[in-house]
Amino acid sequence: MHSGTVAASPRVTDYTSRFATFLDTEVAPLTEALSGAGVGTAWNPALDADGRMHAQVWEARREVQRRAAKAGLFSPHISAEVGGGGFSRVEMQHVEEFVYRHAGLGLGLAGLGWTEGASPAIEHCSDAARGRYLQPLLDGEITGAFCNTETSVGTDVLAMQTRARRDGSDWIIDGHKAWITNSHFADVLQVVAVTEADAGTRSLTMFLVDADAPGVSRGRDIPTMLADGLTGELGFDGVRVPAENVVREVGDGFALAMAWINWRRMCRGGMCAGWGAWLLDRAVARSRKRTSGGRPIADLQAVQHLLADMDTDIYAARAASLLAQAELDELGPFDIPLHPDAPRLVSLIKVVNDEAFFRVADRAVQVHGGTGLRLGSPEEKLFRVARNLKIPAGTVEIQRNAIARGLLR
Ligand SMILES: Cc1cc2nc3c(=O)[nH]c(=O)nc-3n(C[C@H](O)[C@H](O)[C@H](O)COP(=O)(O)OP(=O)(O)OC[C@H]3O[C@@H](n4cnc5c(N)ncnc54)[C@H](O)[C@@H]3O)c2cc1C
Repeated sequence: MHSGTVAASPRVTDYTSRFATFLDTEVAPLTEALSGAGVGTAWNPALDADGRMHAQVWEARREVQRRAAKAGLFSPHISAEVGGGGFSRVEMQHVEEFVYRHAGLGLGLAGLGWTEGASPAIEHCSDAARGRYLQPLLDGEITGAFCNTETSVGTDVLAMQTRARRDGSDWIIDGHKAWITNSHFADVLQVVAVTEADAGTRSLTMFLVDADAPGVSRGRDIPTMLADGLTGELGFDGVRVPAENVVREVGDGFALAMAWINWRRMCRGGMCAGWGAWLLDRAVARSRKRTSGGRPIADLQAVQHLLADMDTDIYAARAASLLAQAELDELGPFDIPLHPDAPRLVSLIKVVNDEAFFRVADRAVQVHGGTGLRLGSPEEKLFRVARNLKIPAGTVEIQRNAIARGLLR
């Protein structure tokens, strides 16, 4: 059991107050410019002829990232030794909650490093790769993608087919990745490939690959219910990468992939607390304004129970997440090798939030009635996002496997 605190630290308070100012002064003008451009919004972007996010929406997000990096807001989750903020997981939960609550679904979300930014896995790169990839990611100058999943292999990671073989001191990568967030635009690809077949959890290695290297091809967009034009395929045909682009050691790819995935799993805590609180605020406001039989629907017990159930789910998931993040901070959330008690806690955060937030989003739609079903409304979009959350970064079934493994080991 943890002995640490789950309260927001002074540097979290400093961060969130600076982020609030950033939303008002830096993001608001970009949002206004985008709204007049006829290319959709940050959360419902127009798509280009190939199904990708419209270039103008993408560029607005990139500008937010560059400005956030300049303001020292983009990478609080990365270790201070390599140029990040060095925030703990508890601190990050508070930061993420604030950002998701106050940016909602807007452009401001891009101000906090997400899958496009630097990841805890990439921190282990060589000194040469640090200057070439990590620093530009921290500065918001380039974006990245995490390339693990393949068309026929998702959960069953160790069955992946993408191979890397040695050629002198270089490596040659051949294979195909699918369902990759930011595949269309990423500058650097964190590619996981088999380097020693049948070596179990030592069979994989992570490589940093320039997206414009000869042999890399950007494939089709894979349209999902998120409708954001950001998910797609990548081909690797004899792609040569130097030894310095191996992350950590050969054979560490599985552990590094798990560090990346666990980061996304732990981020569910603040994300769902923030978006949940935003949806609850909106539902309360709507219930006060909307009338039925001459009275606000907030007076109806049926509606009050919807609000109460939303509050209960948000509170319970937030409390469980903060406690688990505090325990993980003590264990070392990204250590390699990972403490054997950590996976259960990480999976607990993901499954609790994925399932609670799905119920919260469903009830938010219900309180809004037909308005909640309108295409493009925050409730409708977050309902689709909530459904999505139960699959990427490991399905809710896989989280249960990990929790049970932790209990039975
Ligand atoms: C919008 C989106 C973005 C994504 N972004 C990325 C990305 O950036 N990078 C990346 O590498 N991948 C990404 N993915 C892929 C994602 O991680 C996989 O979709 C996910 O891991 C599930 O794999 P799968 O789709 O192959 O499902 P499957 O593995 O085929 O699972 C199908 C069903 O079987 C169940 N199942 C499978 N194996 C087991 C088991 N051993 N025990 C119990 N149940 C099991 C699953 O829980 C699920 O219900 C993304 C996916 C989506 C939808």
